[in-house]
Amino acid sequence: MKSADFNRIRHRLPGVTRRDFMKFCSAMAAAMALPVEISPKIAHALTSPGRPPVIWLHGSECTGCSMSLLRTDHPSIENLIFDLISLDYHETLESGAGKQAEESLHRAIEENYGKFVLVIEGAIPTKDGGIYCRIAGRNFVDIVKEVGEKAGSIIAIGSCAVWGGVAAAKPNPTGCVGVRDVLPDKQVIAIPGCPSNPYNLLSTITYYLTFNKLPALDRQNRPKFIFSRLLHDHCERRPHFDAGRFARQFGDEGHRKGYCLYYLGCKGPITHANCSTLQFGDAGSGCWPVAIGHPCFGCAEEGVGFAMPQFTTSPVMNVTPAATHAPINVERGQGVSPGSAALLAGVAGAAIGAGAVFTAKIGDGKQKEKQGHEDQKA
Ligand code: SF4
Repeated sequence: MKSADFNRIRHRLPGVTRRDFMKFCSAMAAAMALPVEISPKIAHALTSPGRPPVIWLHGSECTGCSMSLLRTDHPSIENLIFDLISLDYHETLESGAGKQAEESLHRAIEENYGKFVLVIEGAIPTKDGGIYCRIAGRNFVDIVKEVGEKAGSIIAIGSCAVWGGVAAAKPNPTGCVGVRDVLPDKQVIAIPGCPSNPYNLLSTITYYLTFNKLPALDRQNRPKFIFSRLLHDHCERRPHFDAGRFARQFGDEGHRKGYCLYYLGCKGPITHANCSTLQFGDAGSGCWPVAIGHPCFGCAEEGVGFAMPQFTTSPVMNVTPAATHAPINVERGQGVSPGSAALLAGVAGAAIGAGAVFTAKIGDGKQKEKQGHEDQKA
């Protein structure tokens, strides 16, 4: 990237050096699963004068997705996102209120009709006509329909906006749904998570700005570069899973040693997300639920987070480990572990047999758990 290009936006990024900015562009390239050579192109796109107008609406939610975006710190990221996009309306960040805020929304829509990016955070109550979420005297469901019809593109940020999330958990008293249910004829890009990882939104917007098109999406309209893999496949505890080393209770020896959290209810084996590689919270490396000893809740996977009980074991989709995993060192005298059985069987082309062994071991584990509960009761 030329210095002149960076100088053009330097005033917008106080405290950010050209080196910091290029590091950010490289990180965005990595987040989009693109080669690092693409980072000058990303830098060029982000320093171009045109800023896409963004209107950000809030429904039934906790504002956690906005908060996690504001708390990113790769260098002064709020400057990058809020100065490189034109955030024309955001209810919880608006300095105006009441009539003034409403006027700014309508002005933003009129000035950018058919061009603005609509970001929706939060679920949409639909029961009783949608009266359980009202803004400026109108039901949120009606606002989404009106603004959605006038948007150029639509992003549902967070699990609430994607399918209803926690607000739609049974018994879902307010009839909450996701944006796709209210705007069935529109393409709604889905970035689930509770909250969604801010870099997933940033990298999606950066992709759009760089290539002037949307990234490849899966059947649920999630960007493939974020959601195509199970987080279990890249989890730092996966070698323990493959070697059959599990924590059985919070605080037991296996838990203290950092073993796999499968039996504590980890939903990593059925959750498509990049938490295990991107991590979370800008709180230093190694910060995501599994890294700090709590099983994955599956917040980014519809039908898992807010639907399956937290501590229930999940089915396992991929029995054999990915070829990219670190080698497994099985301790002597431990017998054949489920993972090593899976590996051996996989080599012999008999993964189904390995699956059976694994299932048997899981069953065996459940039996031991049941026995343990009975012992405790006795
Ligand atoms: Fe990691 Fe959970 Fe998979 Fe264990 S079950 S390897 S803790 S994602």
